[in-house]
Amino acid sequence: MPRPITATIHLPALASNLAAARRAAPASRVWAVIKADAYGHGIERAYPALRAADGFALLEPAEAARLRALGWNKPILLLEGFFDAADVDRLGELGLSTTVHDEAQLRLLEDASRARRLAPRSLDVCLKLNTGMNRLGFDPAGYGAAWRRLQAIEAVRSVTHMTHFSDADGDKSIAAQMAVFHAATHGLPGAACVANSAGTLWHAGSRMDWVRAGIMLYGASPAGRWEDVAAQGLQPAMTLSSRILAVRDVPAGEAVGYGSHYVAPARRRIGVVACGYADGYPRTASSHAGHFAPVWVDGVESRTVGRVSMDMLAVDLSDCPAAGVGTPVELWGRHVPIDRVAAAAGTLGYELMCAVAPRVPVMVEALPAPAEENAGMALAG
Ligand SMILES: *Cc1c(COP(=O)(O)O)cnc(C)c1O
Repeated sequence: MPRPITATIHLPALASNLAAARRAAPASRVWAVIKADAYGHGIERAYPALRAADGFALLEPAEAARLRALGWNKPILLLEGFFDAADVDRLGELGLSTTVHDEAQLRLLEDASRARRLAPRSLDVCLKLNTGMNRLGFDPAGYGAAWRRLQAIEAVRSVTHMTHFSDADGDKSIAAQMAVFHAATHGLPGAACVANSAGTLWHAGSRMDWVRAGIMLYGASPAGRWEDVAAQGLQPAMTLSSRILAVRDVPAGEAVGYGSHYVAPARRRIGVVACGYADGYPRTASSHAGHFAPVWVDGVESRTVGRVSMDMLAVDLSDCPAAGVGTPVELWGRHVPIDRVAAAAGTLGYELMCAVAPRVPVMVEALPAPAEENAGMALAG
């Protein structure tokens, strides 16, 4: 029998979260952001659940090629654009849309178009404006000139105005960034694409022609607080689960795990679970005294005790008297939101879902059978 840890990808949840993105931004087209191998869920696994998107956004031509191999023939956007001249040729081969965020990319496109390495009027570009994030994008002063240069490139078919928010998920406002965006794009025709998940969920003014939905598709909060998104009907798209490998009664005063920072205040039943940081569970969620993460054991919520080690972690079984060797444990998923485990580790669900280790076997909860889908469509249509 294999080691009992498993990640389960819930395709019905992914499909439902995409529908939630559409409900949140009903007038916008939706880029489903699937960079980082669909935030750790797997592009090939997630594809059937997300194919109702208007386009897929990702980082690498190699990821785009995987999507094309699956049969996707609609838009694919490279969120950071291309990295060298060879990548420009991939744009044409794979029919990709691209972000353009700097002078070097502009020049590569001009060269490729002049050399007819890109067909005339074949390329859709998202021109990125830096509105205050100060990561990628043209500054407002140079934006108009960049836009005009793109218009003059024969290979370019369309230019969409794009920016990215630094604070759509926080307490600060996006108003300053939106003001910069409107000022810099004023009078320049073209569609607009500015919202990430946080904009899509929480900032009406940012839901423009396109939105770029990432984390919300995977059922976690851009801000790291599950309560913020639970009401919008998002569903966790990944469950990390395992089983109890060993149970021991630890007498009062004895410690558990490396560093001995958890000391049983009274006699405690402790379960040892087959999951550690080498599986992608964050060590920092339970790494020092007084620090622990929620876990779901035998129908109740419990918590980790002591340090997370490479292959194991320990949980308190005081409130789960029937739990024993073999009892299933949910590390995160439908009962324990990934946001809460991430919060215990001082990070966000993004980092945890992207970091599930290759050694963890993955299962897929399938979409409803096509027969039912057809029946549903027949009823609806
Ligand atoms: C990753 C990314 C997104 C998606 O962000 P979420 O917060 O996951 O919705 C949107 N736009 C760009 C440019 C990105 O890199």
